[in-house]
Amino acid sequence: MADDDRGHVTDEVLRELGERARHCTACRLAETRTTVVFGDGSPDARVMFVGEGPGKNEDLQGVPFVGAAGRLLNRLLGEIDLRREDVYIANVVKCRPPGNRDPRPDEIDACKGFLADQIRLIDPDVVVTLGNFATKLLLRQEVGISKLRGHVYPWWNRTVVPTFHPAAALRGGQSVLDRMHEDFALIESVLADAVQVEEPEPEQMGLF
Ligand code: URA
Repeated sequence: MADDDRGHVTDEVLRELGERARHCTACRLAETRTTVVFGDGSPDARVMFVGEGPGKNEDLQGVPFVGAAGRLLNRLLGEIDLRREDVYIANVVKCRPPGNRDPRPDEIDACKGFLADQIRLIDPDVVVTLGNFATKLLLRQEVGISKLRGHVYPWWNRTVVPTFHPAAALRGGQSVLDRMHEDFALIESVLADAVQVEEPEPEQMGLF
């Protein structure tokens, strides 16, 4: 199949997947959501960002990262010459946990198939996990984000770059933001093939 045709097929399958998510009632979050926040950005993106779950603004607008955390994410992207339209952004859970509480393990389990399919379809070179929930889901490590960030991890023929959630930088001030700048520079280096990604340790592997 020509690349262009493959692109159309991906767009169509991604659209159908989004449609399925919009009618999903697999967990309790369906009862309280306003809008399902499936994902946003380019289906051809080389970089995909994975957040935790929609907040209030995202729930109302149906688009990920549109609030204060989203504005910071846009700024960090701009600093490495990426625009939102160049990347794809999704979340671990597609519906807002009420009052912005943490997503629960059974909600993550119910939703993770959508994220796995999004990654498979978009086929990015780099997956950037924003915060603990996305990082733990992909890397299957109990270690917190402060220890995991600053490094790159081979993951199913891709590279995972974990960093803080932008909301943590908004709360945590300059030191968290400084580390996010370092991590975004790492993303840029991985995209430029300037970082050698080590062969994976077998226990690191495992699609969620
Ligand atoms: N925080 C997230 O994790 N995702 C969003 O979409 C918005 C805020």
